[in-house]
Formats: sequence, structure tokens, C-alpha cells
Amino acid sequence: AEARRGEEVTPPTTSPRGDGAMDVVYVTAEVSPFSKTGGLADVSKSLPVALAKEAGHNVTVVSPLYGFVRDRYVLGEGVEHPSGVGEVGEGLGGCRLRCVFENVTLDMGRSGKQTIRLYGTRWRHVDWIFVDHPCFQSSSSSPYGDRNGEFIDNPFRFSLLSLAALELPLQWWSSLERRRDVRDDEILFVANDWHAAMVPVHLSRRFRRHGVLKNARCLLCIHNLFHQGTIAPTDHTYGMLGLGDEHRQLLEHCLAPAAFTQPEAYVDAVLDEWDPMRPELGDSSSLGVEGEPCLSVLVAGIRSSDRIVTVSPTYAWEILSRQGFGFGFGLTNELLKRRDDLHGILNGIDGPEEGLCPSSDKLIPHMYSAADLSGKTVCKESLLRELGFLEAGAAAEVPLIGFIGRLDKQKGADVLLDALPRLFDRHQDARVVMLGTGDPSLEQRIQSAEGSFSDNLRGVVGFDVALSHRIFAGCDILLMPSTFEPCGLNQMVAMRYGTVPVVHRVGGLKETVEDYNQRSGTGTGWTFSPCTPDRLLETLSVALSVHARKEEWQALARRCMAEDHSWRQAASQYDALARWTMES
Ligand code: ADP
Repeated sequence: AEARRGEEVTPPTTSPRGDGAMDVVYVTAEVSPFSKTGGLADVSKSLPVALAKEAGHNVTVVSPLYGFVRDRYVLGEGVEHPSGVGEVGEGLGGCRLRCVFENVTLDMGRSGKQTIRLYGTRWRHVDWIFVDHPCFQSSSSSPYGDRNGEFIDNPFRFSLLSLAALELPLQWWSSLERRRDVRDDEILFVANDWHAAMVPVHLSRRFRRHGVLKNARCLLCIHNLFHQGTIAPTDHTYGMLGLGDEHRQLLEHCLAPAAFTQPEAYVDAVLDEWDPMRPELGDSSSLGVEGEPCLSVLVAGIRSSDRIVTVSPTYAWEILSRQGFGFGFGLTNELLKRRDDLHGILNGIDGPEEGLCPSSDKLIPHMYSAADLSGKTVCKESLLRELGFLEAGAAAEVPLIGFIGRLDKQKGADVLLDALPRLFDRHQDARVVMLGTGDPSLEQRIQSAEGSFSDNLRGVVGFDVALSHRIFAGCDILLMPSTFEPCGLNQMVAMRYGTVPVVHRVGGLKETVEDYNQRSGTGTGWTFSPCTPDRLLETLSVALSVHARKEEWQALARRCMAEDHSWRQAASQYDALARWTMES
């Protein structure tokens, strides 16, 4: 099969039937490195490869050909791309996209018939397919919006993406001799987040009902329940989705009162009483429904998918929990109705072959391994120099603490900013580097904090993957004061680089970071809760006291590096879930 599939820029060959291989169509709004804004893009690059490699499935990733992806990765028809192949990067990022199928017609109901083209490449036994339509061709560098906010035609854009994915086997594969015998009972669609949540909706309402793709199944994967694809309940907005009026009820929902509740409640209820083997789920009948009527794409996806998975078992429990955390963001009631179909599988991270490892990372100044941490010291000195701390007189031994993340309420940059004055007061030698982009008011706060604490703080506003690697390698500690965190990838990456995580005890962070225990010499970092500046500060102080003891710290760093967060385990769990979904 290996030889037959090859690495050519052509569609996959038919899977050897009878070997349990499925055709997995993985639908996502982001895929790294083409269109990354966060962890969804990382997972969308890695999990499909793991499913192909570990489970032998034929995987096709479907994502939009945004304007910025076209500019960078598509070779013009017959025209050499000015940047050339060599400059676009290595690995998947080094692939050029070419048109693999023209004139796919999509019936978008009241939005009319639409024609799309498919661009693609093949890498690591996976087809990476990009949907080309004028609606994806804005000049913005974000997949979701521009300076004026979210694109108002997002319901149309992502419904079109979903429909394109469903038509892929029908229009594209059926035109290919080698793919003609694909059976619908071997096709699994994986729909990621609200952007792809119209996949199960179109599948159940428009295809299966008419006997088309009736044996195909859909797994909805929730990466972050905060983003729900909530749209105004008007005929105009609904019309953008391309669904008939008879299906409107499927999207009707009442908007929950905004925001999550106090993290304190979480600590009391979860940490003391939670038994992961027997989650105490609430009684959905007593859940009140409040707020404004709206249409929710994610709700429709939850109601119509065959199975649902989220990115860690703890988060699965949190979003189902009625105990006042509010992490269900108003969808707990909906999710409780599907509780038997909802699972949590912890994400993994890429391995050394992708360069996400200190011994193979070309983005860091000096490679290193657990056997010899002197390279990490070189990375730290280099980062201290880059940030101007060394020149300002800092010793190379000062504790260097990093933060990387979207600047919004979720990631807790505000909690860290609130803690900084007291942190630098108590630990004058501590140095902090923050890298992030997002909420303009937080960006401004970081910059003005840098002005106030110029000896101790550097705030870099922007999205810079190379710098993020230098921070993972060069820091001693990575802070993640996320209010909620479905999985979180940064803590796993930090550990891989021997950088010790200090995190809010929530979601995937709770599952991946084990508290340090000096007596038993166990643990991989520190967790704290509730997520307040006080608790953050207390915990950091404990971590810094250990940091002062070099040998103890290095043993801790090595334990972090020994953790296995590869995709292997997750891939086998996804494989089992995929098979179970096909049987539903
Ligand atoms: P989320 O998906 O909620 O944003 P994750 O921890 O799952 O959070 O993944 C975030 C990903 O985006 C990680 O790979 C992280 O390193 C990266 N990232 C976030 N902000 C930046 C930034 N400003 N520059 C570079 N990489 C970033």
C-alpha cells in the first residue's frame, strides 16, 4: 500500500478494502502552516497524518484556500510563483498547491449555485485539499475577519466549505478511476469546530434523506466551545447557509447569558470531588434556558452529528458539568442530550521528524537533548541577549519565564499582568517575556507594562512561530494562566523543551501537568487554582525557589522532557472512535 500511494500530487488510490481502512474527510478552517491562528491548525496538520500512518486510513484534509494561502502557496497556472518553492518552507509548508479539480458545483439553496475549484498537494500519505471560491479571497491575513470584525458572510463561507467537503467523494473522487469504488459506508467526515459544523447538518438533512451518502458518518470535534457560530435569527443570515426553511428549527437556540462564572467554584467542586472515572453529571432537566433567541451553527452540528469528541477528557467533563463553571458556555443542556455520544481524547504534539523537539529544531540557536542540557543554557543566553536583558546587566542564571498565547480573556494574560508588579517586587531577578496578539487593549497593556518594568519584562505583540520556539527552548518556566483550556498544546511543547509549565489546574492542563513533589522526586511542573494573580504569584514563588537549586531543577526539566505527548496514543483512540462512529 505504501508504494502504491506514493507521494505524488494526485488523489489517493483506493484503500485496500477489507483491511478496515476508512476514507476520512477531515474538515477544518485552519491548517498549519498554511493558515494558523491557534492549536486547531496544529492539530489539523498532525492528527490526519497520525490517522494515515498509525491506522492506515485514507485521509483527506479539506480547508479554504484563503487569499493569503493562495498568494504564498499556489503556483499560478503555468506561471512560476515569484517566491519559488524553496522559500515557502519545509515539510508540508514546502508543498506547492496546484489545481486538482475544476468546476465542482454546490447548491447553496437561496444563496444560489456556486462553483468551486480544488487545489491540493499530497504529503505524508494525506491529501491536503483547499477549496477555492471568491468568498475566501479577502486581503485579510486572518481566516475569520479583518479590522472591522468578523466577516459578515462567515455563515456562507463555512457552510460552503462544509458542502464542498461532502461533495468531494461525489464529484471529485467519482471522476477518478482509482477512487470510483469508494463505498459510502467507509467514509467518515470529521468536522472541526463550528466552522465545519454544517457538515453533519448538510449530511443528515440534504444527503442522507435523499439516499445519498446515507451510510457515511460524521464525527464533530469540539476544540473550543467558546466559539459557536452564533448568528442573527433573520431570513437573510439563515439564507446564507444554503439550507431549506424546513430545517431552520435545527439551528434555533437561546443564547446563554454571557461569560463563564467564577473559577473559584471550579476549584471547590472539581478538585476536591472529581473522580475521572465517574464524572458526576448534572440533571439536565433543571437547566434553565435564558437569553435571546439566535441561530447557532454549532448547536445544529451537535444535534446532527453521529458522535462528538472534544480535545481532552477533562474538558469533556467540564462542558457537561452543571456545577457552575460555565465552561459549556450555554451549550451544556444541548451536550447533555448527547452525553452518551460525547468523548474526550487528549491531543498530542508533533514529534522530532517535524522539528518540534530540541534535538531537531532548526528554529532554535542550539539543539540539545535531555542527556546534555548545556545547549538549553546556550538557548537561554541567546534569548536573554535577544531581549536585551543581558546587556542590561542580567546574569545568565536569572529565572526566565515565558508566556505565549492569544491575547484574550481565555489565556489569562490579564491575570499575569496583574501579578507582575508584585512578582518583580518579590523576585527582582525574574525576567518575563510575553508573546501574543489579539485584543488591542491587552496588547496595549503589555506594551505599557514593558515601559513600567523595562528591567524585567519584554512584551512582543505579534504572531511569530520562530520566536515562540526560541521562547520554548530558552525559558526556564512557561506560564499558562488560562481561565479555561480545552487541551492546550504549549504546556506539552514546553515540557518537550525542558521548560517547566506553571498552569491553571483546568481542562487539558490538569491532565498533562503533574505537580512537583520534592520528597518523592515526581511531577513535571506546578498547577494552581483558582486562576487569580495571588495564586499565580504564590505558585511561581514556589517554582522559583526550586529553580534556585540547579540540580533539582535540571532533574525536573529532564522529567518534563521524558514525557511522551506524541500523537500515537491519540491516533489509536481516534481510530477506535472512528470505527465506533461508523457502526452508529
Ligand atoms: P489555542 O488553540 O487556544 O490558541 P493552543 O495552546 O491549543 O491554544 O495552541 C496555540 C498554538 O498557537 C500553539 O502552537 C502556540 O505556540 C501558537 N501561538 C499562539 N500565539 C502565538 C504567537 N503570538 N506567536 C506564535 N505562535 C503562537
